[in-house]
Amino acid sequence: MDRTSLDTLIVGAGVTGLTTAICLAELGMRVRIWTAEPAQATTSVAAGAMWGPYRVEPVDRVRVWSAETLEVLQQLAKDPATGVRLVSGVEASRTPTEPPEWGHQLDGFRICEASELPDGFTTGWRFTAPVVDMPTYLGYLERRFTEAGGHIEIRRVNSINEATGVAPIVVNCTGMGSRDLVHDVDLTPVRGQLVVVANPGITEHFSEDTGLSPDLLHYCPHGDTVILGGTAQPGAWSRKPDPATAAAIVARCAGIEPRLRDAPVIDHRVGLRPTRPRVRVAQQTVNGARVIHNYGHGGAGVTLSWGCATEVAAVARSGPPSLPPPVDHSR
Ligand SMILES: Cc1cc2nc3c(=O)[nH]c(=O)nc-3n(C[C@H](O)[C@H](O)[C@H](O)COP(=O)(O)OP(=O)(O)OC[C@H]3O[C@@H](n4cnc5c(N)ncnc54)[C@H](O)[C@@H]3O)c2cc1C
Repeated sequence: MDRTSLDTLIVGAGVTGLTTAICLAELGMRVRIWTAEPAQATTSVAAGAMWGPYRVEPVDRVRVWSAETLEVLQQLAKDPATGVRLVSGVEASRTPTEPPEWGHQLDGFRICEASELPDGFTTGWRFTAPVVDMPTYLGYLERRFTEAGGHIEIRRVNSINEATGVAPIVVNCTGMGSRDLVHDVDLTPVRGQLVVVANPGITEHFSEDTGLSPDLLHYCPHGDTVILGGTAQPGAWSRKPDPATAAAIVARCAGIEPRLRDAPVIDHRVGLRPTRPRVRVAQQTVNGARVIHNYGHGGAGVTLSWGCATEVAAVARSGPPSLPPPVDHSR
């Protein structure tokens, strides 16, 4: 393969890589993905996943990216095959807290009456948000990409030069992999663990605003299953589920919704949120090829996916000879 047979090489097949690949392939570009692991083995498949700009900067860009993604996910929710649903529920806090600024974007957003909150909670808000069953959604994204003419190859990239050798545009969507691939020392993992149980009849989501605590409390129904969470452990690299952590997650969630206490456990999920001070959507030239980075989405990769992918597609399209100045929202 040389630089003439492809327009763009995407590295990574998580939610970021697949969404970016779709945006480029649907513009008519010849796009290939190289990924070290299949989509169903990525951090992306471990996500809960609910729309919500959680633990991610810079605020001004995140506002735009997340709003764009919200609109797309709301459209995708009309087709059950995508794995996206619109689900109502409550986020609540045990201490007086201001509602999130993104709340007004969501359908039915309103402050709860005290009588609507679980014991011990003082503040809360109700809203309807897109929730995404990630195994189904990643399968949908893969199908949509291949239907647009794209190809996915399981192949680890050991240096960025290896990628620039085969396409004039390379998009780096490697999540935590960018720590090695582009030596980004600002990137750290924030480990998340979830428990998947059979749904005992839950129809609404719930989450506690736990601030910066590593112990999260949230649950979200996806039809026959409910995802219980979770954890946010900075600097932890293990992708192996920890049984004691899983038991604590179930106990926390059952404290709010007792039907979850004895729900049969179906699966455990662990992922490393690729976290850096700012999401990196930025372009540089390497070996005469254009490398566009799209990684570091922390706990909001699903929430930002369509917004970031659209921006990358716009940068990719406005290529030479009128090469745009480097866009670096990461610094
Ligand atoms: C428990 C948990 C819950 C979460 N909940 C939510 C939520 O509710 N809402 C939300 O928006 N986000 C959520 N997130 C965050 C979200 O999962 C991430 O931000 C997102 O998955 C990052 O996606 P990505 O595609 O950038 O990275 P990844 O999914 O990690 O994909 C990276 C890809 O790059 C490939 N790769 C890496 N290195 C190389 C290499 N050298 N060569 C080739 N390929 C390589 C990998 O194989 C993989 O395909 C959650 C995360 C966790 C862990």
